[in-house]
Amino acid sequence: MKKYRGVFLKNAAEIENLRQANRIVSRILDALGEAVAPGRRTMEFEELADRLCREYDVKPAFKGYGGFPYTLCCSVNDEIVHGFPSDRVVQEGDIVSFDMGVIYEGFYGDSARTYPVGTIDPETERLLRVTEESLMLGIEAARPGNQLHDISRRVQEHVEGAGFHVVRRFVGHGVGRRLHEKPEVPNFVPRGMPGLPLKAGMVLAIEPMVTVGTHEVEILEDNWTAVTKDGSMAAHFEHSVAVTANGPQILSLSE
Ligand code: MG
Ligand code: MG
Repeated sequence: MKKYRGVFLKNAAEIENLRQANRIVSRILDALGEAVAPGRRTMEFEELADRLCREYDVKPAFKGYGGFPYTLCCSVNDEIVHGFPSDRVVQEGDIVSFDMGVIYEGFYGDSARTYPVGTIDPETERLLRVTEESLMLGIEAARPGNQLHDISRRVQEHVEGAGFHVVRRFVGHGVGRRLHEKPEVPNFVPRGMPGLPLKAGMVLAIEPMVTVGTHEVEILEDNWTAVTKDGSMAAHFEHSVAVTANGPQILSLSE
């Protein structure tokens, strides 16, 4: 695989494999979204994700990754990312973030969505909308001729312009034959962020994590679950995106 400044550039065949991996992730997220309802235990979502991995004949990417024990990252309300499925029952008004990854033919798919459980309050609804919008604005900037920090800036400006906050502790990443490749894709522009021109063949997992209150994070005693320090709600949307000569291509779509 060719490299540009430490970043693997994928050829058309590799991008097609990544598209297939991500399409499966997207279909699993669709099914999870349909399963979300008040009264469900989050472990039921894990079981569904596991069953669908078997049906699609793919390996779950997260199970065992760095010791993570589950197929699905399932994060409720103030949990931002890396939540454990459990006997916790989701209630009307909750939100649940699913982050899902699979390995298909040696290539990783990685995508995430936050779903409302029944009817949620207007401010939380706005959080979900703004987070997803910021993702789409970041994706729009993922084209040759732009810099990596153009993606980060678009996300940050949209989120902060809406009065919300972007998490700094966790960032997006390149994705390919490994789950986490270079470059890091922050959802904010760190001071002194070096320039990285975007090149056709880069595949980036762009994944804003957005909070209502502080961007500060705490990790629970399970050593994984990241929650907002102030207990405010958090949302997470992620797409894997190929940078191409014709502009950004979202790989994590169901069709
Ligand atoms: Mg992910
Ligand atoms: Mg990711």
